[in-house]
Amino acid sequence: MTSVDLTALAARLPPRPLTRFAPSPTGYLHLGHVANAVWVWGVARALGGRVLLRLEDHDLRRCRPTHEAALLEDLEWLGLEPDVGTLAELRAGASPYRQSDAGETYTSALERLAARAPVFVCDCSRRDLALAEGDVFDEETRYPGRCRDRALAAGPGHGLRLRVEPGTERFIDARLGPREHDPSAQCGDLLIRDRLGQWTYQFAVVVDDLRHQVDLVVRGEDLLESTGRQILLGRLLGRAAAPVFLHHPLIRKPSGAKLSKSGGDTGIRELRAAGVLPEEALGRAAHLTGLQRRPEPVAAADLAKLFAAG
Ligand SMILES: [Zn+2]
Repeated sequence: MTSVDLTALAARLPPRPLTRFAPSPTGYLHLGHVANAVWVWGVARALGGRVLLRLEDHDLRRCRPTHEAALLEDLEWLGLEPDVGTLAELRAGASPYRQSDAGETYTSALERLAARAPVFVCDCSRRDLALAEGDVFDEETRYPGRCRDRALAAGPGHGLRLRVEPGTERFIDARLGPREHDPSAQCGDLLIRDRLGQWTYQFAVVVDDLRHQVDLVVRGEDLLESTGRQILLGRLLGRAAAPVFLHHPLIRKPSGAKLSKSGGDTGIRELRAAGVLPEEALGRAAHLTGLQRRPEPVAAADLAKLFAAG
């Protein structure tokens, strides 16, 4: 009952393609993460591919070692073992699959980017931009270009942006079909490093998907709109061909809101404590994202079946 054509998808990928599960350890896993895992592992197994586990803890202000340990334990409980960046490897210590261990990777990627594209210094605070735009400023608010031509010198408290010129990025989502994005109209000049010196999610994820040679990105529809800017950024970083993207449905609360990190009744810890079995959690997540008509239990080893049926 999925709308993913596996044969068409396989034709766009190398043999044994690599996809990734890339959570941020900023809280405990909830059913939304499980849904993403079901899609990631299910599609990978149905294609004969591999899963990379990457810990996206570049924002050290928000990530906690206790959350990482709990995340690895919950994945083990669910029966989801990665092929690359294994649970044992990540538990053993420093790993190339943990962003906070990647050291100079992002600095050298920035140098590579700046050599090929205009990167400029921006001293706008979120508050400045919110005032300028008369509203809240978030990922989907277009940067108005205030610092573009100011030629500010880099310094503490300054951010870095990539100058983004008008242009259309075209891609074919493996579930949603052809899409066109113009990042200059969506987000404008892309923030690479923020005023506190933190790499942005957009930059870190593109650098990582390139250095880890990820072929297929399977993620929730909430990230669909950032695809064009990530394709653009990847190309400027020297990526020959963009990964294939597959955006899956999100689990919505009855109110229509997205599930939050705090989880509440959908937190995996709470489900475990209530006696829910791993295959029941996986089956529920599969059902809530349209992979099966009823919330029947599905073992981790059987996730490919959700896709193979077409
Ligand atoms: Zn600015």
